[in-house]
This record gives sequence, C-alpha cells and structure tokens, in this order.
Amino acid sequence: MMEVRTHDILIVGAGLAGMRAAVAAAPGLDVAIVSKVHPLRSHSVAAQGGINAAISPKDSWEAHAFDTAKGSGYLGDQDAIEVMCQEGPADILELERLGAIFSRNEQGEIAQRPFGGAGYPRTCYAADRTGHALLHAMYEQLLKKGVFVYEEWYVLSLIVEDRICKGVIAMDVLRGELHAIEAKTVIFATGGYGRVYSSSTNAVINTGDGMSMAYRAGVPLMDMEFVQFHPTTLRETGILITEGARGEGGYLLNTLGDRFMSRYDPQKMELATRDFISRCEQQEIEEGRGVNGCVLLDLRHLGKKKIMERLPQIRQLAISFVGVDPIESPIPVRPGAHYSMGGIRTNAWCETELAGFYAAGECACVSVHGANRLGGNSLLETIVFGRRAGIRASEYVRTVKSVTLSSAPLQAERKKVERLLKHKNGERIGPLREELGAAMTDHLGIFRKRERMEQALRRIRDLRQRYENVYLEDRGKIFNTELTNALELGSLIDLAETIVIGAIAREESRGSHFRTEFPNRNDAGWLKHTLAYCTESGPRLEYAPVTITRFPPAG
Ligand SMILES: Cc1cc2nc3c(=O)[nH]c(=O)nc-3n(C[C@H](O)[C@H](O)[C@H](O)COP(=O)(O)OP(=O)(O)OC[C@H]3O[C@@H](n4cnc5c(N)ncnc54)[C@H](O)[C@@H]3O)c2cc1C
Repeated sequence: MMEVRTHDILIVGAGLAGMRAAVAAAPGLDVAIVSKVHPLRSHSVAAQGGINAAISPKDSWEAHAFDTAKGSGYLGDQDAIEVMCQEGPADILELERLGAIFSRNEQGEIAQRPFGGAGYPRTCYAADRTGHALLHAMYEQLLKKGVFVYEEWYVLSLIVEDRICKGVIAMDVLRGELHAIEAKTVIFATGGYGRVYSSSTNAVINTGDGMSMAYRAGVPLMDMEFVQFHPTTLRETGILITEGARGEGGYLLNTLGDRFMSRYDPQKMELATRDFISRCEQQEIEEGRGVNGCVLLDLRHLGKKKIMERLPQIRQLAISFVGVDPIESPIPVRPGAHYSMGGIRTNAWCETELAGFYAAGECACVSVHGANRLGGNSLLETIVFGRRAGIRASEYVRTVKSVTLSSAPLQAERKKVERLLKHKNGERIGPLREELGAAMTDHLGIFRKRERMEQALRRIRDLRQRYENVYLEDRGKIFNTELTNALELGSLIDLAETIVIGAIAREESRGSHFRTEFPNRNDAGWLKHTLAYCTESGPRLEYAPVTITRFPPAG
C-alpha cells in the first residue's frame, strides 16, 4: 500500500511568493505548503532595501513600468511588467493591512527611498530589514488561515502523468522517509540558485531545486544566462550591503578617493543600474584602482543618526564581518552573485506549459526582470505573482475532479536515493560543490568570454559524471543533511549547465550578460528569450519572442 497525502493546492516554498500564494487561495480549499526549512528561514527574510511600487500621487505605474522595461535591457515581457507595476500599489497597501510595518516619512505616510535605475524614489521599506517585516506578517496570515505546513520536508520531484502535474515526491527530513503528496495543482515558489557561485549573497539553501525539478519534468527554463551581480557585497562572506545604502546617499570611492561613477555615468552616479555599476567597479579593480580587490562604500557623510535609523542592520553586518563601523570608515565592497533573473517559464498568470503546474517568485521567469532586475522589484514580484498564482490555481482546482497516482514516481525516487547512498567510498559532496562554485565564479562572472565559458562547461560536465559516484558517509535516516546536500548539488549541476550553454550561445551584451567579444546589444539578432529544455545529452536551446506593448526598445 502506498501512503498518500492529498491536497487541492500544494505550494512548494514558504518564502514570500509561496506564503502569498497560500494566503490568496480561495477559502474552502485544502491548501498545504512544503518547505525544506522553517518558513521564516526562507531567503526572503534576508531582503534588506525595500519593495517598489508607485504609491505616490507624483509617481505613476506607467513610469515604473518604463523604468523596469528599460532596466531589463528590453528583454522583460511588457505584459507581465504592466501587471506588476499596475497591481503593485494595491498590494503594498494590502501588505500594510496584513500587518507589515513600513518606515514612515515626516507626514506619517509610507516612506520611499530612491533605488538604482528608477526615475522616482519608489522603494518602500522597513529600515533595512524589509524582507523580515514582510515575511513575518505573511507567516501570521498563514497561521491565521490554518494552512497545513510540511515543515522541513524536502521535495525531490514533480509527479507528472499524462502531461498533467499530480503532486510531488518529498522526503520528511526528520524521519528520512519518502512520500508521494498528491495534489490537484502544484505551485512552485522555491526561490533562486545563487549558491551555484562560490561567493553569493544568498542563503545556503538557495540551490534552485524547483527550477531543476521543473526542467527535468520537461518544463523549459527561460533566460538562465542572466545572473545578477550586486555591486555591494562583503569580500570574504559575500554578505549583501543593501542598495538602500546608496539610495540614502552613500558614495562609491576608489583607492584614490574618487567618486569614480562620475566618470561612467555623471547623471545617475551611484544609482545607475546594478549591471552597469558592477562592471564599473570591476573595471576600477582590474585597472588597479581597487582596495584589496574591493572598492569603498562611504556612508560617513550621512551621519550617525541617519545610519542608525535607516541602515542599522548593515552597520551591524559591517562591524561583525569586516570590523568596520560605517559611521567612522568606508566599507570595502565588491560585486557578488545575487539574483537569478531566469527561471521556470510562465505567463503573467504564473501558468507553465504543464497543466496543473504554476510557478511564482524568484524560481519563475514571468519575465519582469529580463536581462537585469531593478532593486526592489523582486519583492514586488513575489507579492504580485504569488497572489496571482494562488488565485489562478484556485480556479483551476475546480476543473479537476480527482487525481489518481501510480506508485511508479515514488519508487523511482526511492531508487535514486538508494543509488546516492550505495557507494562504499569515493568523492565527497563538499569538494564537488566547491569546484562547481569556483568554475562558475572564475568563468561566468561579470565579464564573459567564449573560451572561458567552454572551460566552465567542461568542468561542469566532468562534475556531473563524478556526481554519479559520490560517497555519503551518513547513511542514517534522521536529519541526513549530507543526503539533502547531495540532492541540492544535483540541482546546481543542472542549472549551471543551462546558464553556461545559454551564455555561450548569446553572442551579444545585454543587462547582466556582458560578452567581451560582443560588447554591444544586438536587437536584430538577440531580442529574444532563451529557452532551455532538458535532454539526455544536456540542455537543448530554443528561442521565443519578447512581448513588447508600449515601450519599443531604445538606447
Ligand atoms: C540578501 C538579500 C537581500 C535582498 N534584498 C532585496 C530587496 O531589498 N528588495 C528586493 O526586491 N529583493 C531583494 N532580494 C531578492 C528577494 O529577496 C528574493 O528574490 C525573494 O525574496 C525570493 O522570494 P521567493 O518567495 O521566490 O523565494 P525564497 O524566499 O527564497 O523561498 C524559497 C522557499 O522554497 C523552499 N524550497 C526550496 N527548495 C525546496 C525543496 N527542494 N523542497 C522544499 N522546499 C524547498 C525553501 O525552503 C523556501 O521556503 C534580496 C535577496 C537577498 C539574497
């Protein structure tokens, strides 16, 4: 007998997108959420700087949409961008009603700060702990709604039969047992894959499992070559120093004490887009004007009061991790891997090519960020599209009578786990993961070149083979994190391959993807999305048109 759990809507991921989807699901439906960590440990909790929306009468959603389309290198789908920017303001007010405490301005309204690439200061924030404030408010709602949580359950695969998604196979990490969880619809809100790089701002759990599972189930991943490098991260740890620090007026200096952005973009200075500032910093460092592989972020002129009020967390991070108090000294920072623009291809209602399967948040590519995401737009994406996924899945559920499952998917995953556990000796997971991170950091960074990317691809394919024979020392059932780490490494290898293959093929520079041999954007040849499909011999690429509604591509 197969033990089966059943739900109407099963959401994988308890970050902002997943919880927002659960809260939006129609009353009366049986909704459950699965997370490999406690919901409040999802990476959303670490978001610092804020969430964009045109809530001021002096601003407009059209202006927000224009900034987003332009910032995306015109690769964002403008139908989805319009939805996000138009629906965003109401979602912010709803968040406030749900209990999120935003910082206020002197008039007592929700305060907004300027962020890069934005024509208006439209980033709402809760000091520099915005994700923390939002995730806790959303968790309260989750509890209030009585949504069932599979806490510390690790999802291994989607169950797909007759081209319909019917649930997932998941492991109860505490007990080490695998189960089929049956569902009329599945929503993935599994977050990003920042940990494919050796140094990243992302939590260690950000291994892109959901993207890899969707890919293996035949759903295409879109625009995977676009990986955002954030301009201000700490050197050793990769910890993020929010863009809000520059939004509040922080300067970037080189070793000569120059505000070097005045040479690259005298108008926007430190508030140019992230892709551009990261390249400028890298150039300063490579041309010998850096400080120990970093540039300096100077906040001293903001004064103690403002730093303590608006940026208390990053002050603490700088003190704890580099021994620098930004009230007194500039913080050494450098560009670091931060965000995955690409992901599971969806339309603006979060539907995928697979019936009954939806995706929202960082794991999805809807695509509002195109080739480069504007700071503050990702939190907004999780809220707007999380809500829409919950609504659309609720509608779909009513069309599904019942789901019947065979025992084959569960048996297949049990075999996979047994295979991972069977070797008596061999290579360990840790070094393989380090090698993968190093290959990506060395060859798929800010400046990309064909030979170096091909080198990375060879290393990744070699790692894939060696992964087949890894040796796990822990064979226990209870909380076997070596096993979950091994599964995560499998996801990372899949994704690394799609990133590299997409990047080698794209012979132009756009947003975060900068090819030294092809330094210009080429709309005639490359104004198109990359789709990666999983095959036995690696990713097969196809291309799809970009939706342009009101903003024709310009300079
Ligand atoms: C340090 C940092 C600061 C940021 N600051 C900002 C900011 O100020 N503004 C902004 O707009 N954006 C910011 N971002 C980006 C933004 O925070 C994220 O893109 C967003 O929070 C992602 O939310 P999510 O709900 O899609 O996924 P996450 O919050 O990452 O949640 C993913 C969920 O999926 C679950 N999961 C994953 N794999 C599995 C599996 N195999 N089985 C079961 N569960 C699984 C996890 O347990 C988790 O619950 C920041 C990102 C970082 C890293």
